[in-house]
Amino acid sequence: MRVALSERRLVSSISKDRIFADVQNICRKFPCRTPGSKAEGETAEHVATEFGRAGLSNVHIENFPITSWNCRRSNLQVVSPRSLVLKSAALPYSPSCAKLIGDVVDVGLGYFQRDYEKKDVDGNIALIRWCPWDITENKTQYLRALQNGALAVVFYNEMPKRGIRIFPITETWNFGFGPGKQPSRPIISISYEDGRLLKHLLRRGNVALKIDVDVDVRQMARSHNVVGTLCGTKWPRDVILITAHHDCWFTGANDNTSTVAVLMELARVLSKAKPYRTVRFISFGSEECGAQYFSPWFWINGSRQYAARHANEISNNVIAVFNGEDLGSDKKFVVETSGPELRNLVHRVMKDLDLTCKYKNKNALDLTPISSDHYAFAIRGVSSVCCTGHPPGRPYERYHTTTDVPSALDREVMRDFAALIGTSVLRLANSLFIPLSLSHYMREVIEGNSSLRLLGLRDHARKAIEIVDLHEAVLMASSLKNVSEALDRIQNDILVAYERSVSSRDQLTINRIESCAKRINAQRVKAFKNMNKLLFRVVGYGKPGINPMIYLAQVVPGLEATEELVHVYRSLKFLQAEDVPSARKELEAIYPYADLATRFRLTCYPPRFVPGYETLLPSIDVSTNLNSLDKEHRVSGEELSRQILLLATEFERCKVQVEHEKMKLCLFAFWSSRLGEAVEEGRVLLSQIHKSFNSVQREHSPHGN
Ligand SMILES: [Zn+2]
Repeated sequence: MRVALSERRLVSSISKDRIFADVQNICRKFPCRTPGSKAEGETAEHVATEFGRAGLSNVHIENFPITSWNCRRSNLQVVSPRSLVLKSAALPYSPSCAKLIGDVVDVGLGYFQRDYEKKDVDGNIALIRWCPWDITENKTQYLRALQNGALAVVFYNEMPKRGIRIFPITETWNFGFGPGKQPSRPIISISYEDGRLLKHLLRRGNVALKIDVDVDVRQMARSHNVVGTLCGTKWPRDVILITAHHDCWFTGANDNTSTVAVLMELARVLSKAKPYRTVRFISFGSEECGAQYFSPWFWINGSRQYAARHANEISNNVIAVFNGEDLGSDKKFVVETSGPELRNLVHRVMKDLDLTCKYKNKNALDLTPISSDHYAFAIRGVSSVCCTGHPPGRPYERYHTTTDVPSALDREVMRDFAALIGTSVLRLANSLFIPLSLSHYMREVIEGNSSLRLLGLRDHARKAIEIVDLHEAVLMASSLKNVSEALDRIQNDILVAYERSVSSRDQLTINRIESCAKRINAQRVKAFKNMNKLLFRVVGYGKPGINPMIYLAQVVPGLEATEELVHVYRSLKFLQAEDVPSARKELEAIYPYADLATRFRLTCYPPRFVPGYETLLPSIDVSTNLNSLDKEHRVSGEELSRQILLLATEFERCKVQVEHEKMKLCLFAFWSSRLGEAVEEGRVLLSQIHKSFNSVQREHSPHGN
């Protein structure tokens, strides 16, 4: 087959040595490409030049404003019991400080308030071991030290032999999109070994440190997105994005020079493949930090700027985005997709390239988290894939450290990722019908996905039966699924006719089929985008500073509250019958908290929210009731009726919210009728093609009349 041949050619022309040489070259020429720095600007120029050389057109750099933070000097010195200089790095967003001197207090993890019991941090320097379960929790650790009066904070790496680790910190408990605050106390980072050394010295007596940090903060600095286009040879209005980020900490070989090099290699090999649809290559700046005014959501700044600037194109033309992060991690191959439509495609490509057997990583196909540039597109409904060398929440050992250098990269993994992205993109670009399956999508919406722990609409309907009627929504969804399956069948038939007319060079039929396919494609992509925006959400669980943050992608997360409603409903009934222990049991069983609490060792009932927007999803916090009903058997009549009223009010409030969520599901009916029209158009076209084909056959038949 023609497509398969072009895919094979593409894969065989990818060179792992060329990818690796590009990584080495960029790392050597432009070290420390912090957002807004001179090196970052020069890297953007370099990538633009390579894009041009690869044959991309309209190569340009888009500048955008950021808050830049650059470290000019960072010194850490032990001044007593003896003088000793330690290798260190200021943590991004740390303020400057001139020769601050203080005693060190080892607070261990310094994560919970209990870690500070019997520790006199007030006016001293806190020594903290970096949070081992999630490195982004360094913010919680810092804020806890601040609450306890620390003068400055010294982090040491939680892993031996991995150098110094850094990750930005803002002085706000949340992670919202709005403006934030630069930390008020200096923060500095050292290696695991030097952390051990300080602890060793502390066992013998007082240790005093001198910290000297000089940073340059600019509010209106510029960062750069590099854009290059491979114009589609047949359907140029449809656009597929391949993205990476070129800013980094330290050398940043894996994070994320690896993907920039893969991007440049794909630009070279894909331009030779002359794809039918347009492929756009973007290297973002300011992924690591730089959102203005120390926004606590400091990352994926370049991609959010790009998505906002090109909002029209993204909603009208962009079909999918393929992003990469840390593609050179040793033997680690993780692919996260925003929904079932792309998961299906990527899975097929992995099989075709024999990658499924090669990488038996159980995290191989997961839902998209929030940690990289694809999220900027996913929240706009675009089907997105993020290829990465580490599963969510578990960064690789060299992540953001001085040891993230080219020699540690796995060349074969980089090549395999390039092959996966390149082949998937080419398949999306060259297929008459864009190979994103709406029927798979609808199946998952209805039935859920047990391996990803996604509840389906049917589960919600069954569980909510006493409270909210979701029966009609399930019917509407099933009807959309049926329409999608009918569309799949029509597409297959049209494809057969298409191939026949291509081989017989019947240009008239080719044109008719292509213009019909164009309309069907547009409708389906639109359906995905609209439904993605409403149905699939990454959901954050937790309260910063109390719980480790958890992010899970879910279908219609607003409906999760039906489960709480059911338990509260039953609990109310028990309370009315004055059966307090049973009422308590119902409240304790509330999912997902009960499940999450055991899985992630949570210590309180966390709220559910949409990360970045920090919008709360419907839920009932029953902790007040649980506290009051604690004495189980001895709840006075007055207190009991107070608890009943409290719970009943919460129940009503949440029920209204859930009813509101339910309204969103009406869109199934809308898309059913729109796609029904597409099915009809396909049917009409097919019958016309068959008619003309039969008449042509009759004309050419020697026995024809
Ligand atoms: Zn990165």
